[in-house]
Amino acid sequence: YKLPEIKNEPVKSYAPGSPEREALKQKLSELNRGGLEIPMIIDGKEIRTGNLSDIRPPHDHQRLLGHYHQGDKTHVQMAIEAALKAKPAWEAMHWESRAAIFLKAAELIAGPYRYDFNAVTMIGQSKNAFQSEIDAVCELVDFYRFNVRNMYELYGMQPNSAPGTWNRTVWRPLEGFVFALTPFNFTSIAGNLGGAPALMGNTVVWKPSKTAVYSAHLIMQVLKEAGLPDGVINLVYTGGKEAADVIFNHREFAGLHFTGSTAVFNGMWKTIAGNMEKYRSYPRIVGETGGKDYVFADATANPKEVATALTRGAFEYQGQKCSAASRAYIPTTIWEEVRSYMEADLQSIKMGVPEDFTNFINAVIDEESFDKLAGKIAEAQQSPDAEVIMGGKCDKSKGYFIEPTVILAKKPDYVTMREELFGPILTVYLYEPEKLDETLDILDTTTDYALTGAIFSSNRSNIEKLTTRLTHTAGNFYINDKPTGAVVDQQPFGGGRASGTNDKAGSLFNLLRWVSPQTIKETF
Ligand code: GLU
Repeated sequence: YKLPEIKNEPVKSYAPGSPEREALKQKLSELNRGGLEIPMIIDGKEIRTGNLSDIRPPHDHQRLLGHYHQGDKTHVQMAIEAALKAKPAWEAMHWESRAAIFLKAAELIAGPYRYDFNAVTMIGQSKNAFQSEIDAVCELVDFYRFNVRNMYELYGMQPNSAPGTWNRTVWRPLEGFVFALTPFNFTSIAGNLGGAPALMGNTVVWKPSKTAVYSAHLIMQVLKEAGLPDGVINLVYTGGKEAADVIFNHREFAGLHFTGSTAVFNGMWKTIAGNMEKYRSYPRIVGETGGKDYVFADATANPKEVATALTRGAFEYQGQKCSAASRAYIPTTIWEEVRSYMEADLQSIKMGVPEDFTNFINAVIDEESFDKLAGKIAEAQQSPDAEVIMGGKCDKSKGYFIEPTVILAKKPDYVTMREELFGPILTVYLYEPEKLDETLDILDTTTDYALTGAIFSSNRSNIEKLTTRLTHTAGNFYINDKPTGAVVDQQPFGGGRASGTNDKAGSLFNLLRWVSPQTIKETF
């Protein structure tokens, strides 16, 4: 067998006047009309409970797009039963057919549904066109395509055999079902957390974030069109606790594929540990959790590059990427220059609805997030240990808008230097260049997270020193670049410490978690 050539999906720019911008505008007006009515999908059937929850754009929360049907524990139970029923046929299906389904889904997303994926993510999750393109289109397509290539490589990994024998490895899926619990911030992650285990022959119960139902529904539609059999992925909209109560008490629970907060992951891990005797097998627990991602510059760093990394790394998608720069350590000697470049850049950035393509910043995801972020900014405005030096305005009258905000921390352990906020707030700590070593120690010990980090330096021996010193502080480490925007198959993504199990989404390592290999020895 030889697979079709697998490459990263090229990113469209949506430049003014480009055909893709016109196509996307058209799609936005089509999909922005309201009247949505989104069912759960269990065993391929649309499930309508009549228990309706609103769908509203975060940037225009007065406007009702429609509703989704909320389920309860009985629907989680139904989803598990459907997954277990679908399992034997799916597992027995030739791997080529499973691969073809995901390759076809990738073609559909990159082709006829491209603008649908982009538009629903813009409308439902308040992402600008470019950020939606690199997520909901390119990254999702890349996940599906590279997973297939990685599966192909994995299946080719076979043991040696002594004369007169034939040893082989059967890359079996897990026994039971996998639970995919997915976040709002990346449509691609939502599509991959169920998609990767499914590709390997598992069946899945999928609970997306309640703030990303619109894009979750589209993912299911496209997978179905690509030929995914009924019951392989079952989409439920319930509360987290309701899902957990049923899933983590089930004998056939075989794995958790999660992206979300550290606290939620820790809670689930403890529940799973407490129920261990109930399960047939040790469940696979895979999670990408929080971050408190940093930019560290030394005195030789290029101030303009540092400034760009800060404003882009901290504020693209309103800082709602796990990878977003949220704390910075800048030497006093270059700060004034960095600051003026940042001010100029932020002045050029507009905030507003994503349907207006000139807006770089859109709304944060919901009121709960808005209130938390606005509270942290207000606290910093009052604190003797902090100073809000850029932005700081918050307004939720029309949408959940928080201006890109920069806080200068007088103490390196000020609360916004330590806690993950998940919003457009960057905290900067200034250090004297001669205190470089001490500052590195502070960076290392201020938080338990270790997802992404970026260093800026033009001095080779410093680059080497920082890279070595900071090795455990980031699963994705950038030298002279911003800490966001990992590309599938180029910068496999995931962090350690409190940031997750570091199974590198979109890589072979991740697929390994969804198989339970069997070794066969046959003697002739
Ligand atoms: N992979 C994304 C990036 O590199 C972040 C993923 C996340 O937020 O979970 O920016």
